[in-house]
Amino acid sequence: MTKYECERCGKCCQWPGEVVVNEKEIRAMAEHIDESPYMFTQKYTQLRQNRNGLTLKQDENGSCVLLKGNSCSVHSSKPQQCKDFPNKWRFKGWRQICEATPKEIRK
Ligand code: SF4
Repeated sequence: MTKYECERCGKCCQWPGEVVVNEKEIRAMAEHIDESPYMFTQKYTQLRQNRNGLTLKQDENGSCVLLKGNSCSVHSSKPQQCKDFPNKWRFKGWRQICEATPKEIRK
């Protein structure tokens, strides 16, 4: 079985698309950058396209609003959707941009 180890290149954070966040994840990210959950929600989240919950905002190029340079500003508190890429979900063409290192895992 192959597991991919993130090299923190920041490319997936520049990929347009929704990053769905729940209340617990908002609290963790807000604490990480010393904001109140209310202010974090106001500044960094918006309603999902299907109007069912919140997603992180993106800049005009589609990058995550929490990306600073090539680095996630809430890395150790990032949402589950970000933690799960690319081992649990992938977008089309992901391998052309993702610099994660494949590691063979024995079951
Ligand atoms: S694109 Fe791949 S290697 Fe780069 S930050 Fe995302 S998961 Fe990590």
